[in-house]
Amino acid sequence: MSRSAHPAGPRHADVLPEGHYSAPAADLNALDEKVWSRTVTRDADGALTVGGITVARLAEEFGTPAYFLDESDFRARCRAWADAFGPDADVFYAGKAFLSRAVVRWLTEEGLNLDVCSGGELTTALDAGMPAERIAFHGNNKTVAEIERAVTAGVGRIVLDSFQEIVRVAHIAQRHGVRQRVQIRVTVGVEAHTHEFIATAHEDQKFGIALADGQAAEAVRRALSLDGLDLIGVHSHIGSQIFDMAGFEVSARRVVQLLAEIRDEHGVELPEIDLGGGLGIAYTSDDDPREPHEIAKALSDIVTRECEAAKLRTPRISVEPGRAIVGPTAFTLYEVGTIKPLEGLRTYVSVDGGMSDNIRTALYDAEYSVALVSRTSDAEPMLVRVVGKHCESGDIVVKDAFLPADLAPGDLIAVPATGAYCRSMASNYNHALRPPVVAVRDGEARVIVRRETEEDLLRLDVG
Ligand SMILES: *Cc1c(COP(=O)(O)O)cnc(C)c1O
Repeated sequence: MSRSAHPAGPRHADVLPEGHYSAPAADLNALDEKVWSRTVTRDADGALTVGGITVARLAEEFGTPAYFLDESDFRARCRAWADAFGPDADVFYAGKAFLSRAVVRWLTEEGLNLDVCSGGELTTALDAGMPAERIAFHGNNKTVAEIERAVTAGVGRIVLDSFQEIVRVAHIAQRHGVRQRVQIRVTVGVEAHTHEFIATAHEDQKFGIALADGQAAEAVRRALSLDGLDLIGVHSHIGSQIFDMAGFEVSARRVVQLLAEIRDEHGVELPEIDLGGGLGIAYTSDDDPREPHEIAKALSDIVTRECEAAKLRTPRISVEPGRAIVGPTAFTLYEVGTIKPLEGLRTYVSVDGGMSDNIRTALYDAEYSVALVSRTSDAEPMLVRVVGKHCESGDIVVKDAFLPADLAPGDLIAVPATGAYCRSMASNYNHALRPPVVAVRDGEARVIVRRETEEDLLRLDVG
């Protein structure tokens, strides 16, 4: 089992048995709609098209490697989440999954709110016109400068992550003569992960304030006592790439218990709870994600039931999907450079990108699919490992997959479901030039984040 910690959330690894791979699909040319964005299809010549444009044209115009983002799919997913949760709940898109000014505009237009967790994400959001009151500011170590900017911009909420931060935010808010709306992030002793969750007494991780030993209750006590803070609720984020709702069930129960304790001790019923993000998507045909309306119903049923039992008014719920919105909407297009068959093992297929544009495989043993997309093929399946061009043997994009045995240098292959945590975690390792993100919609493609250039590299290197 992979147990790597994610730098920006508790656990983002995808847990699968060692050496796991599915049998080859019956038809290697088929594009499973679970893993490809909604407008992806093959044209009469067998080439993959997205938004009505073939990959050959996209590669010619924008080069490879590149991320192609299906804008109408992104917008449809935003609407599906907003509709599923309805007017009595709030959906915050987790910007760390992928953020750009175009994305902020789409979110704004589709009625979503936005989570940011750094000054850079906040700047991007405000610059692209997201109203500050629709922004939530997260992070376990926000700098004083970041808090100042968030408070003066008027963000809708700051999610407090430590005892120091409670005082820090209160002080800054007071200095600016405002009462900052805040939530307290609690760790409920649940770690949810793919098809399982683990209930623990203590969470050995850097985020939040533990419910255990009355820590969270003490944090609430302090926040309620400070003039600069308007405590609106409690926040819990239990993991990522989650399919099983049982972890949310335990988390919601514990959060509601805390609300009941707060009422009993302070006579206040906090009006909101945030159950975080972490909802899973299909990276391969083996994954079966839930639809937003199922998730909304499950979460609202759990919270309603627990609140009835505790005789509390049902609080307003918010959720923070990142991956579940943007993940499935993009694929990475690569050109095949070299092909090395290793007798009795597998064939190594090297592409023109790698761990610099998708670190998730190296970092968490993440699973991905891959397909030959510049043409179809009737050749036999061959077991491949898709690797990048970096100076690391761990530079793997897709660990185990099948591609047609007649694959040749110059073919285009694509890895679907790379919308989340790929461009946003991209690096310049080996002075790689980070790939562009191209939005495709209704027969039109436009760059929303341009490709890095060697000039960009030299501009930062001041000699
Ligand atoms: C990372 C994160 C999310 C989003 O997680 P996804 O797996 O992309 O849905 C939501 N809320 C918080 C607090 C996070 O840290």
